[in-house]
Amino acid sequence: MAHERRIRDLAGMTWSEVAEAIDRGAGVFVPVGSTEQHGYHLPLATDVILPTELAFAVADELDFLVAPPIAYGYRSRPLSGGGQGFVGTTSLKARTLMALVEDVLGELIRQGFERLAIVNWHFENQNFVYEAVCLALEHHRESSARILVAEHPFAELSEKTMQLMFPEGFPGWDYEHASIMETSLMLHLRPEMVLFDRAVDDASKRHPWYDVVPAPEDFVPASGTLWKATQASEEKGRVAWNEIVSQFRSAVALELGGSAEKRG
Ligand SMILES: [Zn+2]
Repeated sequence: MAHERRIRDLAGMTWSEVAEAIDRGAGVFVPVGSTEQHGYHLPLATDVILPTELAFAVADELDFLVAPPIAYGYRSRPLSGGGQGFVGTTSLKARTLMALVEDVLGELIRQGFERLAIVNWHFENQNFVYEAVCLALEHHRESSARILVAEHPFAELSEKTMQLMFPEGFPGWDYEHASIMETSLMLHLRPEMVLFDRAVDDASKRHPWYDVVPAPEDFVPASGTLWKATQASEEKGRVAWNEIVSQFRSAVALELGGSAEKRG
C-alpha cells in the first residue's frame, strides 16, 4: 500500500520512474489549495489535504501521478473563508497564484505529460487557475496536452446525500467553509487532525449578496467557522466522499481517458 502511493506521488518517485510513467502515457494531477484558517477545529491545510486525497483516490485506476500540491491560494474572502484577518491564513496575490500554476503546468507539459488535471479545493482560486491553464497552453502550442480544470472539486451531490448532510437545510457552499462538509470529510479521511471537541456552530451576522472592502466586522464570524461544524460526522464524510470520488473519476475518465486508451 505504502509502495503503491509512493509510485503515484510524483515528488516521491525517481526521475527515471517518472520518465517511464510519461512514456506509457500516465497523466498528472495538480492539487491546488490554500493555507487558510478553518475554525478552531480543522488544520490550516484542509484545502490542500482534500484535493490531494481526491487525486490519490483515483490515481491508480486512471494511471495518474500526483504532483506536489500548491499549498497557498488566493486571498481568503470574509464571506467565503473568513478573510485575511485570521492568524495562519497566508495567501498569494492573484498574479502570483496564476504565475505559479502556469509555471508548474508548463514544466509538466515540457516533460511530456499530455493528460493533466487541476484539482482545486479553495473557493477563491477559481478563474485564476483557469486563466493559468489557458496561459500555459498558449506557451506550448506544439504539445497535444489537454487539461481538465476542476475549479469546484465536485458537482451537485445527490438529493439523498444532501438530506443526510444538511437535514436542517442547505445554506450554500460559500457558507460551508470549515463547517459540515469539510469537517465531515476530514473526520473520514484524517480523524487525527480534527479537534472535534472544539468545533462550533457560527455564522456571520450579515451575509449579503455583494462584498465590501474593507469588510465590515459583521461579515466575519469570530470563530472562522461559517456554519454548523458540530453537525459533522464521520458517516456524512464517508458518504459524501464516495460520491465526490466517483464524480471525479467519471469526469477524468471521460475527458482524459486512461493511458491504455492512449497507447491504442
Ligand atoms: Zn476549506
